Amino acid sequence: MPILPSSDALAAERAWVEIDTEAIAHNICALQSVLTPGTDLLAVVKADAYGHGAVRVAALAEQLEVKSFGVATVPEGIELRQAGIRASILVMGAVQSRAQIEAIAQWRLEPTLCDPVQAQCFADALSAPLPVHLKIDTGMSRLGYPWEQCADFMQQVMALPHLHVASLYSHLATADDPDPRFMKEQQARFEEAIGRSRAAGIPIPTLHLANSAGTLFSPAMHYDRVRVGLSLYGIYPGPQFEAAIALKPAMQVRARIAHIRDLPAGVGISYGHRFVTANPCRVAVISIGYADGVPRNLSNRMQVLVRGQRVPQLGIITMDQIVIDVTAIPDAAVGDSVTLLGKDGSSNIPSEEWSRLLDTIPYEIACGFQQRLPRVGVRSSM
Ligand SMILES: *Cc1c(COP(=O)(O)O)cnc(C)c1O
Repeated sequence: MPILPSSDALAAERAWVEIDTEAIAHNICALQSVLTPGTDLLAVVKADAYGHGAVRVAALAEQLEVKSFGVATVPEGIELRQAGIRASILVMGAVQSRAQIEAIAQWRLEPTLCDPVQAQCFADALSAPLPVHLKIDTGMSRLGYPWEQCADFMQQVMALPHLHVASLYSHLATADDPDPRFMKEQQARFEEAIGRSRAAGIPIPTLHLANSAGTLFSPAMHYDRVRVGLSLYGIYPGPQFEAAIALKPAMQVRARIAHIRDLPAGVGISYGHRFVTANPCRVAVISIGYADGVPRNLSNRMQVLVRGQRVPQLGIITMDQIVIDVTAIPDAAVGDSVTLLGKDGSSNIPSEEWSRLLDTIPYEIACGFQQRLPRVGVRSSM
């Protein structure tokens, strides 16, 4: 059971996201324990650590010996540096403008280079050595230089001033697919690129290929480093990985009951009256809505936990408020905290429940909660 911070800390909040730091610590240790000896964990904390709070997660991970972080953008990296994170920070997105390059150098971030033209931009703008990470495309067809030309790319970058090639990496496109064939094909291309570069006499830097799914699929995917995001937060990249590791979800989303009323039969609820009461019922209004990140497409489909029990949501989800049915919970009261995602007693609503209803992935659910919801650290007892 999560231990809530002192009730004063949340008394003023209408809705909030609880981040269970004990669960994140557990997940980091569990992941570290399945890594091939010598493989490093790079913790991916882009998009505010998938909504969990990048500074909070990175500070915790640093205490657990995590030596590198991955972000998508330069400002995400700067935020970590400003918070005192000292580990290396890989910017995985594409960076090319002079201003971004200068910010990278100033804040000691480490860029991803995807082609020689971009590498030249860095060499022209820099005045001191900078670790850089070369990315090759082995089948994602997004960022990266064609794997067949890896040796040539590495040689061109190594000939430029200031650039120190710290790693060579690629990204898997289908690692969460139950059919591993294309992932294995990508790995074969990665190996081929490395082999050809080595044969050309190029020194081989640190290598990395796997995301969460690749990491959990096989130690053969681990190389020198794995770039793990989703599973840090206790979410499985697919049900086929549940046997590989015991993860604990770290995010719970809660909102307070703001108002309770009794309604007769035959009353339409919320915009458009998309729900009409069939019987007399008691409804509660909770103070959270689509502007907080509760997808409006869950209207009339989602459930929430009130006093540990599942109850249905009624009518259209509005910008700031949601109506729920508390007829079955006679002691529900104004001020109660209602769970939208996560645990309450022995009941649980996992983010996968929402992603299934919405035909999306849990990544999008976790990233969708807005800054309007304060993030509150909690520690579950283990
Ligand atoms: C987001 C990202 C990851 C992490 O992927 P997960 O599936 O969340 O583990 C790894 N590598 C790159 C390049 C990414 O963009």
